[in-house]
Amino acid sequence: MTTTGRSVVAGAFTVDSSVFRHLSMACVVSMPPDSMSVNIDIHRIRGVFVERIEVAVIGGGQAGLATAHALIQQGLRPVVLEASDRPAGSWPRYYDSLTLFSPAPYSSLPGLPFEGDPERYPHRDEVVAYLTRYAGRLDAEVRTGTHAATVDSNADARGKGFTVSLTGGEQLSARAVVAASGTFGHPHLPALPGMDRFEGTALHAADYRSPEQFTGRRVVVVGAGNSAVQIAVELAGVSTVSLTSRQPARFAPQRILGRDMHFWLVHFGVDAAPIGRFLRTPPTQPVFDLGRYRTAIRSGAPDWRPLFNRLDGRKVTWSDGVTEEVDAIVPATGYRPNLPYLERLSVMGDHGRPQHREGISLAHDRLAFVGLEGQRSLSSNSLRGVAATPGG
Ligand SMILES: Cc1cc2nc3c(=O)[nH]c(=O)nc-3n(C[C@H](O)[C@H](O)[C@H](O)COP(=O)(O)OP(=O)(O)OC[C@H]3O[C@@H](n4cnc5c(N)ncnc54)[C@H](O)[C@@H]3O)c2cc1C
Repeated sequence: MTTTGRSVVAGAFTVDSSVFRHLSMACVVSMPPDSMSVNIDIHRIRGVFVERIEVAVIGGGQAGLATAHALIQQGLRPVVLEASDRPAGSWPRYYDSLTLFSPAPYSSLPGLPFEGDPERYPHRDEVVAYLTRYAGRLDAEVRTGTHAATVDSNADARGKGFTVSLTGGEQLSARAVVAASGTFGHPHLPALPGMDRFEGTALHAADYRSPEQFTGRRVVVVGAGNSAVQIAVELAGVSTVSLTSRQPARFAPQRILGRDMHFWLVHFGVDAAPIGRFLRTPPTQPVFDLGRYRTAIRSGAPDWRPLFNRLDGRKVTWSDGVTEEVDAIVPATGYRPNLPYLERLSVMGDHGRPQHREGISLAHDRLAFVGLEGQRSLSSNSLRGVAATPGG
């Protein structure tokens, strides 16, 4: 069972990945033979208690849990640090109506199938329960309520490594660190003309849960991805909604020839093709649709419009010059890697994304990333992708 504090539990899984082989080599090479059998090793350095561990995995969501599983397969003893009170990633904080766009069999992590009708699209709460169960079966320590504030590189008698400082003052000395902290903690808000002067309600999709607070209001949803379309259609049930973006949303049929599209993506190898290294920025994902969303937009609830020219007070001026008052703006404009704790390691490149090769930091060869968008393949940041190729 995995709970607040420390616990160790048994499980058996099989995964392979170059990231974890690499970390395994790096750790073993620097490890004195007598420390092989020591799991928790606490020292006092300059008055601060420092616990020595092999690998710190920062983030207890699907990426961190799949990472822990893969590291165990490599013979390492990871410690998963999760800031929130349960090891279910950001899923508990996603909006209430959310169902997966990937059917159950395409939403499993290694070693634990997502049960039930293989044709169904599980609800958010099922994912929370599934990940919590998965964490409970891992033969790894998962420490909830444990926030990594900073990571610094260090060198001690064991060789190169990192000091992970926790909010609360404790420190961990780790031979390797895996950053698996997702993106949800770092909502992206592009420059929208006049957004700083908007006097109505502004709520990023990261903070949206359900439509009630918008009942009877005039709402503008900004974005063209899955969240933007899903939230706009949901809000249109209770309010007057416009969906707006620079380019209209691109739709992909959820089912083709009687099969969910994930069947075809896997069948033709598109899902796991290692094209990440050729992508400068990840491509925009299409909106998966059984037909409901396109029908709603065609019917005008919500309508789609090119991005507005400006906001001022409560007024929005559309691209055709028409001006009207609106009550709320909901930017559903995506996320960026949530890595503030790595600031001192200078690992970031352009566009708020870390520089890496196949998941290994270019600046520190014992620092790895898992679950970045487009890291290794188009599915690296999805449940099925992190499961198929936990190296990313
Ligand atoms: C609205 C939405 C819908 C999605 N739908 C699907 C879908 O249908 N199918 C699919 O496969 N994918 C989907 N995704 C994409 C992806 O699967 C999820 O975003 C998933 O939550 C990513 O998992 P993760 O483990 O990388 O990150 P997260 O789930 O964000 O987990 C990261 C964890 O790290 C913790 N953390 C962060 N910083 C620290 C720190 N400094 N110290 C300690 N802990 C820290 C956080 O508390 C969090 O628990 C969706 C994403 C969104 C936003």
